[in-house]
This record gives sequence, structure tokens and C-alpha cells, in this order.
Amino acid sequence: MNSIIEKITTTALQAPEKICYKNGEETHTYQELLQKSDRIASFLQDKFLPAKSPIIIFGGQQFEMLVMFLGAIKAGHAYIPVDDGSDPSRVIQINEVAKPALILNWSNITDFGVDTPQVTKEELTQVLASDNNIYDSNRSVGPDDNFYIIFTSGTTGTPKGVQISTNNILDFANWAENEFDYSGEMKMLLQAPFSFDLSVFDIYPGLMSGVTLNIVDKDTTKNFGKLQEAIINSDFNTWVSTPSFFEMCLLFRGFDAEHMPQLNKFIFCGEELTHATAKKLLKKFPDAELYNTYGPTENTVAITSIRIDQDSLEKFDRLPIGYLKSNMDYRINGLVDETTGQLTGELLVSGPDVSKGYLNNPTQTEKAFEMIDGQMFYHTGDMISVADDGLLFYHGRTDFQIKMHGYRIELEEVDSMLGNLEQIKQSCTVPLYNNKKQVSKMIACIVLENDFIDDDEKDLAADIKDSLKATTMEYMIPNVLKFVKQLPISKNGKIDRKTLIGEINE
Ligand code: AMP
Repeated sequence: MNSIIEKITTTALQAPEKICYKNGEETHTYQELLQKSDRIASFLQDKFLPAKSPIIIFGGQQFEMLVMFLGAIKAGHAYIPVDDGSDPSRVIQINEVAKPALILNWSNITDFGVDTPQVTKEELTQVLASDNNIYDSNRSVGPDDNFYIIFTSGTTGTPKGVQISTNNILDFANWAENEFDYSGEMKMLLQAPFSFDLSVFDIYPGLMSGVTLNIVDKDTTKNFGKLQEAIINSDFNTWVSTPSFFEMCLLFRGFDAEHMPQLNKFIFCGEELTHATAKKLLKKFPDAELYNTYGPTENTVAITSIRIDQDSLEKFDRLPIGYLKSNMDYRINGLVDETTGQLTGELLVSGPDVSKGYLNNPTQTEKAFEMIDGQMFYHTGDMISVADDGLLFYHGRTDFQIKMHGYRIELEEVDSMLGNLEQIKQSCTVPLYNNKKQVSKMIACIVLENDFIDDDEKDLAADIKDSLKATTMEYMIPNVLKFVKQLPISKNGKIDRKTLIGEINE
């Protein structure tokens, strides 16, 4: 039997009536998860699909999606989660790269414009209600086989399918369970789409530990009133999200320890946790455990973590991303920074959480993965520095590094400085290119803190620039400050710098 399925089954059999999935009033038990996924496995094995061929599973954040994920693994097929909020062309692109054997379609879309056979929601509903639950666990997904394949956003070019094996997830889950004390007492917020690996923070270590997954789905997230109600009236005790999603919820009245005393653990991943966001959180939830974690999809969800408390806020202007998992190795492709004395450069990582590469894409795999001293390293594309004790700090993406008038500038470094000013809630600095494709200006798009939104923009811009002048070099100061109501947010809930660069350069 697949080892992850085995662990979930053992946990589920100890408390079959326990709720594993809760979405508003809708709840489902562990027993249901086991039984229904057996039926999907039986149905899939009866189809005699090519061994180990992947399957696209298309839908939202419904219980049936989790059932189908586990059913596919039991049957012996890796799954490719595709969110039903995606553009339909995404299915065509993914289909072309992955050549899946089947599409399990938990949506009302009838035609994806591809030849791959699909099973409709109606048929799947019948399978889920059937008595056929016999499958051969010897044919289940093996330790080094692909478990899931998550496709990158592919805003430019063809999306890449990151292959994650059973062993990759097992290693991540074992680390996460220890690091964040997973237990059956946990009720976890699950807001990320299932096509974003942040959701794996909840799903696998969670189901293996017997937690209740509290879904806040896309429709709820889109509606301010509904979202506020879902968050404030919830009983979850563990928060998992991107910092941007948390920032959005800070506006809700009653979102604090006084009204939500059970909420005592916050785990962030996926984008930078700013000093300002962490400070606001600890003000509202002074006794809560707050963790910053970091990791690319290619390294299975997260590979570093650190607890952030008042001491960290005092000690660091820009928060660290934590210590690397002890069974992983790293290299920094860079130099010792003259001013800080710290080794700084692109982070390369190796170890049991590293993917075997991109599905059917040797060219991109070769670009991003490199064998060094007999070990496979993944090039993260992230600029990282390392303190003497091994604490890691994030400085931005290598591809968000610009050159302006000869100076090399990390756009995220500029945002980090802006974010430390009292007037600024969020910012995203982007380059403006001239017709020779050179950066002619840096434009900072800024969302103001509520207390400043009615202030005169010229005065604000002057004050902000003066504050920056006191702490940084002239060339790091954005040429234009543009005050906006909100920043574009990607489907995965992160500030979408690439979209903003496109908009500014239209
Ligand atoms: P994804 O593969 O979509 O999960 O994105 C991974 C990328 O998000 C990383 O390579 C980083 O650039 C960024 N990222 C993830 N976690 C953090 C963090 N805690 N701080 C800063 N950047 C992060």
C-alpha cells in the first residue's frame, strides 16, 4: 500500500466518525474519505489505464476532490490538480505536456477541447455511491513514483509540471508534523486552491494526523462579507495561508484573540512575511505561535521555518525565513556581501524534498536542476543570505532584480523598506522600460494604511521619499510613487508582480 495512504488509513480507523472536512455547514468524516476513495480506486483500476499514467483532476475545493486525489493514488496514478477557476486554455496546455490517461471532471464544463477521455461529475457521483470498492493496493503509487504533479502558473511560456513523489511528501509531512505539532486536536484553515501546493500543508500532514480541514473556498474568499463571516464565526485553531490573504482579513472587526481565543497558531508560506504584517498579527494575537516558512513547489511545499516573536521583531528589520530542514543540504551561488559580511546569492538545495524535475520537459529540468558532487541540486531562483548560525534571509527573486543606471536593485528590497514606513500597508515596486528595453524608472505602487488614505498625495510622496533618504541610497528610491486602492493578487493569493509590470508597461 502507498505509505501516505497507509498512515491516513491507520489514523482514520482509530476515529472513523471524526470530521476530516468542513466547509460551512457541510461536513464529511474520515470513514467517508476512506470508503469513497476506495470506490474511485476500484473504478479507475477497472479501466486498465496505462500503468502510472497521470490523471487530471479538475474542480474546486470540494470534499470529492480530496476523495479523487486519494482514489487516484490508491489506483496507481499520480494526479494533476487543476483549479476550476483557471482559464480553459490551461487544461489544453497541461494536457499537451502531461498526456494524461483521463480527466476526472468535478465541474459543469462539458468540453475542454481535448481528446483525452473524461469522466463527468454525473458518472463520478454514481461511482461514489456504488458498492464497488475492491482494488489492488499492490498497484498503488509507489515510494518513488509521482504522487502529484503541480503545474506552475506559466504566465510566460508553457507551464511546467513539477513532479512530486510519495517520498517527497512523506519527508515534508514528517518534518511538518514535528515542527508544528500536528495532532487530532488541530482544526486547520484550508484556503489555498488545491492546485497550489500551500494546500498540501493542510492536506497530507493534516489527514495523516487526524485533523479537521476547515475549507474557506474561492466563492467565499471573493466576497468580503461572506469571508468575514466565515473567518470570524469559525472555530479553527490553526491558520495556514499566504501573508497577503491574512492582510486581507485584518480589516475584519473581531479578528483578534479576544473574539477568537482558540486561534493560536499561524503558519505562513508562499511569499514574504513582512515585518509590518507580523507586528500587526502579534498585536492582535499576542500569545499565538507565528511561523514563517519558505519553499518552492519544486522542493515540496516548505523547507525552512522559524517562529517569529516579539524578540524577532526587535532584532530584525526584514524577517528571516528560518533554518533549513536538517536532512537537506544547500549551496549559495554568490559572494560574501562587503557590508553585512554574509554570504549572499542564489540558493541551491538538495535532499529528500527535491523533485525529480519537470514532467516530459528535459530542457527546463536541465536548466533548473544540477548535479553537484553526486547530489542533485535545485536552483531556487531566490536570493538568500546566510548568517553564521545557518539562519536564512530572503532578498528577492533573481528575476526581480533590475539594473537601472548601472545599479543592481532588488525590487523586493525596495518594498521591504517601504513596508517598514508607517504610511504604507503594502507596496509593489516595478520597473518601467523605455523603447530600448532599459529600465528608465522605478514605480512603487502603494496601498496606504487607513489612517493616511485621505492625506494629500504630494505631501505623502514627499514624506515617504524623505524617510527613505534617511535610511537608504538615492538609487534605491523609487522615482514615482503611485497610490492605489489594491494590488493585483494571483490565483494563489500572492501579490502578482508580473501582472503589475505588464500593466505599468502597457
Ligand atoms: P511557489 O513555487 O509558487 O510556491 O513559489 C515559491 C516562491 O515563493 C519561492 O521560490 C520564493 O520566491 C517565494 N516564497 C515562498 N515562501 C516565501 C517566504 N516565506 N518568504 C519569501 N518568499 C517566499
